[in-house]
Amino acid sequence: MMPFDYLRAGNEAEALQAAADRPGARFIAGGTNLLDLMKLGVERPPHLIDIGGLDMRAVTKTSEDGVRIGALVTNAELAAHPLVRERYPLLSQALLAGASGQLRNKATTAGNLLQRTRCYYFYDPASPCNKRDPGTGCAAIGGVNRIMAILGTSAHCIATHPSDMAVAMRALDAQVETRRRDGQVERRTLDELYRLPGETPHIEHTLAMGELITAVVLPPLPKGRQRYRKVRDRASYAFALVSVAARIAVEDGKIAQAAMAFGGVAPMPWRDRAAEALLIGQTPSQALFDRVAEAVTSEAQGHGGNDFKITLLRRTLAACLMDLTGNAQ
Ligand SMILES: Cc1cc2nc3c(=O)[nH]c(=O)nc-3n(C[C@H](O)[C@H](O)[C@H](O)COP(=O)(O)OP(=O)(O)OC[C@H]3O[C@@H](n4cnc5c(N)ncnc54)[C@H](O)[C@@H]3O)c2cc1C
Ligand code: SF4
Repeated sequence: MMPFDYLRAGNEAEALQAAADRPGARFIAGGTNLLDLMKLGVERPPHLIDIGGLDMRAVTKTSEDGVRIGALVTNAELAAHPLVRERYPLLSQALLAGASGQLRNKATTAGNLLQRTRCYYFYDPASPCNKRDPGTGCAAIGGVNRIMAILGTSAHCIATHPSDMAVAMRALDAQVETRRRDGQVERRTLDELYRLPGETPHIEHTLAMGELITAVVLPPLPKGRQRYRKVRDRASYAFALVSVAARIAVEDGKIAQAAMAFGGVAPMPWRDRAAEALLIGQTPSQALFDRVAEAVTSEAQGHGGNDFKITLLRRTLAACLMDLTGNAQ
């Protein structure tokens, strides 16, 4: 491990100032991802700013009747929170499908959004990896790529984003609230937060250096039913091969609202609004859901070892939609 210095920030202003004064500094929250990467030499921040003591642990209702989740709320607290369980059950389901009980007790909302890919080659400093060491190549293309992405990839990187929570947040139209040292507060959708790899897979999000995530804001309770369905190699303690977060509202026998996001298949939680539009105004049926699943994967590209994900995504999505609309009126 490289040497680094450590500062425990007492409040937000102190954390932001410390980040501004220390080029290359990184915030550390639960540490469940960043410390692992530092131990392996994949990440080498010269300074760590511990934000664990900051006042960002509340889950509160917003004036618009949505919910504001502090950046340091743990995955365990969030999954169990009554507002989340009642209004956004798919978020609770996604959180409980992730990691293990011990990890969820440490993992935070912001840290979960910014956790890095689980690509095996990224974790192995001996392998070429454009995300870890720009310009060195991608060992996963032509290598072992069973867990890699089928959508949104580039010739430079085919890694997936590993978060379950982020997939749920994307289906729920969450916005990420941040603060900069000059006091500027910004809100971004997840679409605006994450970047696709293109030619620069090492740049994964649009946050500026030293920009602090303070909260995630969910809009008011969406109508209809919600579900998070995760397919993985083991029943627990495993990342998604494919996951689907879906919410559907059926009125008078027709689909009135639909949102779907996908995990394990792309470098960011994936959403396909054109496919959602295909559902609106239609009567739920297996044939409709198969058509929509086909549309979601129409541009999917396998890399040999992960070709199976295309069929798996189609089937998981169609099953999830059937499940949500089976008895719906
Ligand atoms: C064995 C194992 C299994 C796992 N399985 C799953 C799984 O199935 N599903 C899943 O979704 N996840 C899984 N995880 C990942 C786990 O959920 C993440 O490690 C965790 O959510 C990261 O949160 P953290 O608070 O520990 O982040 P940290 O490790 O503290 O930080 C992660 C990143 O976020 C940045 N950061 C943290 N907070 C802020 C902030 N407020 N503002 C700006 N930047 C910030 C840090 O600088 C760092 O870059 C697993 C992890 C392990 C080790
Ligand atoms: S898929 Fe991305 S993270 Fe994995 S080796 Fe290739 S460049 Fe690195």
